[in-house]
Amino acid sequence: MNEISRLVREAGVAGEGGAGFPSHVKYSSPARLLVINGAECEPLLGTDQYIMAHFAGRLVTAALSIQEALGAEKVIFAVKDHYREQIASLKTAIAGKANVALCLLESVYPAGDEQVLLYEAAGVRVPPGGIPPDSGAVVSNAGTLLAVADALEGKALTHKYLTVSGAVAHPLVLRAPIGTGFSECIEQAGGVKTSRPLIISGGPLMGRPIDTEDLDSQTVTKTTSGIIVLEEGHYLDLRRRVTPLHMKNRAHASCIQCSQCSDLCPRRLLGSPLRPHLVMRAFGSSRNMDELLETQAAKNALLCCECGICEMYACPMELQPCRINALIKEEYRQRGMKPDFSPGEEPSPAWPYRRIPSERMAARAGLSPYYGLGIGGFLDMEDVRRVSIPLKMHAGVPALPCVETGEKVEAGSLIADIPQGKLGARIHASISGRVRALADRILIEAERSDA
Ligand code: SF4
Ligand code: SF4
Repeated sequence: MNEISRLVREAGVAGEGGAGFPSHVKYSSPARLLVINGAECEPLLGTDQYIMAHFAGRLVTAALSIQEALGAEKVIFAVKDHYREQIASLKTAIAGKANVALCLLESVYPAGDEQVLLYEAAGVRVPPGGIPPDSGAVVSNAGTLLAVADALEGKALTHKYLTVSGAVAHPLVLRAPIGTGFSECIEQAGGVKTSRPLIISGGPLMGRPIDTEDLDSQTVTKTTSGIIVLEEGHYLDLRRRVTPLHMKNRAHASCIQCSQCSDLCPRRLLGSPLRPHLVMRAFGSSRNMDELLETQAAKNALLCCECGICEMYACPMELQPCRINALIKEEYRQRGMKPDFSPGEEPSPAWPYRRIPSERMAARAGLSPYYGLGIGGFLDMEDVRRVSIPLKMHAGVPALPCVETGEKVEAGSLIADIPQGKLGARIHASISGRVRALADRILIEAERSDA
């Protein structure tokens, strides 16, 4: 394990942009290219934009250290071409640094999808079912890179930058201790502006809606990029309420096999064998799930990134291939099945003309009232008194607690470690206080004299 991986492992860094893949594993094998994902393609999020505008120098220093550890020839910072402040900060930070480049991306959705990003920024294609290292590339987002910068200074990952936006009084970027309650974060944004809020963890298009009764148990994790507030009955809310049986009946009765979903699917356009219209045909005609999972169309559904273009933008019949793909993926996962994909193809020459402008995608998803709302400010949540930290905030197995109930802990101290020989990430106390409960989460409460 190289020195960067060792420090990153000590600090408990896990990818902040997606599934929380432990970064020490990512940085421990050679790669020829490092791409920093600054696209932040989900509408309403401004977390990475804040980080790039304010910490460009630290990001570049961290990227150069990772580059050295990977033995990579080049680092590319990929950001959208309208991020003026971020571009100016990054240009200053990379000035005079050989092998560090800035790539300006058009504002299309989903520019931040790893496969889209790699193709747009470097012409690199990832094989079907593969990951960027299969093509010699490592991708990290801006938030992860800032955590690496801290790790290089010996600081553990204890806080998370996230956006709180949508139907709140004052949209803003927060720096919150990991484990802070969502409700507390929303209060910092001035509270909700609707009597029937719909809370989404992450971006509005690919994030996870939270049921109202579960809100109190939701806390900030290493992968929480944002908390978005919409209203119950919003277009996105209505879509998620459609039952699988209803989706199946509609697929059977209403899918006209026009293939527009496949024609606009970014994964398909970049050479994936995924064909959502064929998934719809198989879903609508299969007698049961066993039969569906045996079809090649369903097997290729595993390649879907769940961007939602097929159902929110392309389909003229308002059907839901994205949700059906997600359903199929979950079914394979639960059954422990790893089916084979069809071979990949060359990217379609139509790709440059079929990319979806971000603003139009947001409009189709009913997000226009909040699009361009702007992130009004920044707040460092310094006085959080209670955190509930999940033991699993990363890919791999849950971390193993190394504290006991009643024990006093200092902010930054290790509270859960990676089980021997397993994939995972360490966890550190995000506030000083006393451990009050220990199960699949560690609850810490500050004491009267604690900061
Ligand atoms: S959600 Fe739809 S458009 Fe997006 S990758 Fe999956 S099938 Fe393609
Ligand atoms: S776009 Fe809609 S109607 Fe057309 S094939 Fe896809 S799911 Fe069916």
